[in-house]
Amino acid sequence: MPVKAEGVLSVDDRLINRRIVCERIKTVDSANYYNFSAGPAIMPRSVLARAREEMLSPGRSVMEISHRSDRFLSILDAAESGIRELLGVPQGYKVLFLQGGASLQFAMVPMNFLVSNRTADYVITGAWGTKALAEAKSCGEAREIFSTAETGFRSIPEEAELSFSPQASYAHYTSNETIDGVEFNYDLDGKAVPVICDASSNILSKPIDIEKYALLYAGAQKNIGPSGVTLVIIRDEMIAAAPTGLSPMLSYRSIAENRSMLNTPNTWGIYLVGLVCEWLRTQGGLASMKSKNERKAAVIYNAIDMSDGFYQGHAERHARSMMNVTFRLGSQDRETHFVSEAEAAGFHGLRGHRSVGGMRASIYNAFPHEGCEALAGFMQDFAQNNG
Ligand code: PMP
Repeated sequence: MPVKAEGVLSVDDRLINRRIVCERIKTVDSANYYNFSAGPAIMPRSVLARAREEMLSPGRSVMEISHRSDRFLSILDAAESGIRELLGVPQGYKVLFLQGGASLQFAMVPMNFLVSNRTADYVITGAWGTKALAEAKSCGEAREIFSTAETGFRSIPEEAELSFSPQASYAHYTSNETIDGVEFNYDLDGKAVPVICDASSNILSKPIDIEKYALLYAGAQKNIGPSGVTLVIIRDEMIAAAPTGLSPMLSYRSIAENRSMLNTPNTWGIYLVGLVCEWLRTQGGLASMKSKNERKAAVIYNAIDMSDGFYQGHAERHARSMMNVTFRLGSQDRETHFVSEAEAAGFHGLRGHRSVGGMRASIYNAFPHEGCEALAGFMQDFAQNNG
């Protein structure tokens, strides 16, 4: 059925149009194209369909309205309450939408909290934590209190292996290392030390105990929405403890006081965050995402484990990421061959990060289960033909 032209459409016509567009997008999605991109990553198809429709509806395009308008304020409310509801963020925390990516948080965190005479304790389990620590060191006395660098970032510490200094104004860790494919399966408890977490690549993939965190940040472009928005969830006490006198654009206090609108926020990105939250609710929330994500990851890890060593998983079993499955094939030539055959078969974005090579299948919330099954089948065939 053709989509009726815009103009004098009745409400029913609009609904029918939306349904046709959604169906078309579903068809494209189920064609043989699987997007394993590590981020910016696959978005829920129905969110894109709705955004496309609303973008072209007169008076409804969020790109074309003031961020001070009532309509945008209700979009901001929806995004904030969506995040609060999904993650169970209580009163006593602010939910902020910043720009500058997670990388700016690497700098803002120490600028705001690494005050003189205090230290900051960093737990390093991969490439992103390493970057965060380097930024913090340029601000003050940041210490690496634990690192798996020597063994190639394959594991995650037991909680009992970590102890934080009483001098630390915070402890920082990365809950999922996107490049290395290792993930904490617990919320780190800093006891007396406030915990700050980079959750860029596993936020909203499972329930977490948000009250364990003093500050949690995440670039949106994996599980929350498009690139260009950074989610920050911060305890009020942290804001109260932050120094005055910082440039307002770098100060959590000023940003919170101005409800993320010191300047023009990423209105389009925040709008999409709200839609993604709505989609997650229809999927049954984070407990349901957790079990779906575990089942998806198990399909690919199983293909690795059943391959008699043809595929070698990078992470130790206890540390395996549910979001980024990293593996190698023994030689560069074989990996290049794998990538080119995979692409020809419709599996895109499987090449590992340029800094480490190998393969990486990123399977965030919006990635479909059948894509994991299809990749596992392809891996089995490839191993049979090339083993
Ligand atoms: N932390 C993690 C865990 C990441 O995966 C990334 C990037 N993908 C970053 C930080 C940096 O994010 P950004 O590009 O938004 O600065």
